Amino acid sequence: MDEQNPLQALITQLTKLPGVGQKSAQRLAFFFLSLPKPDVTQFAKVLTHTRDNIQYCKHCFNISLSEACFICSDPRRDPHQLCVVAEPKDIFAIERTLAFKGKYHVLGGLLSPIDGIHPELLRIPELVRRLKSEAITELVLAINPTIEGDATILYLTQVLQEWPISKTKLAYGLPVGADMDYADDMTLRKALSGRTPL
Ligand SMILES: [Zn+2]
Repeated sequence: MDEQNPLQALITQLTKLPGVGQKSAQRLAFFFLSLPKPDVTQFAKVLTHTRDNIQYCKHCFNISLSEACFICSDPRRDPHQLCVVAEPKDIFAIERTLAFKGKYHVLGGLLSPIDGIHPELLRIPELVRRLKSEAITELVLAINPTIEGDATILYLTQVLQEWPISKTKLAYGLPVGADMDYADDMTLRKALSGRTPL
């Protein structure tokens, strides 16, 4: 540890946050130092508690505090529509639009052979199992328009080719390579309502 800087241990941890460099980390470290002690304790407690208690929903693989997430356990959600996303954060982006009332399925990533992400690493068998056992009539592929996203959509289309249900994908008004997590709610709402058949 750097003996010159008593905040070095904290700064080292803070630089692990996305988008936080040395300078911002130092600013944040001084910010934490300026907080009342109970606030810092509470912050650390919530951080640890969240990490310790978050699990994956056994139905859709969304993040959850219990076996079934808040969407899967909501009887008002339309069981006929299933929206396939790459990551749990995509569910939160779509939920912000209030434009989708069905359920979700999280793949756990996108195909990327270059990074060693092959179909067997994604939750595709689980998706097929759900299609067999649930009353799903429409599959919405809400996947980012990136190289990996397009490859995943193509693969899913092939795997599910024979499946007699409606398959759509988002009508992106977004530039290629965009991340739906950063899309504004209006753009994403339009992408959902104007989804195109596969
Ligand atoms: Zn769920």
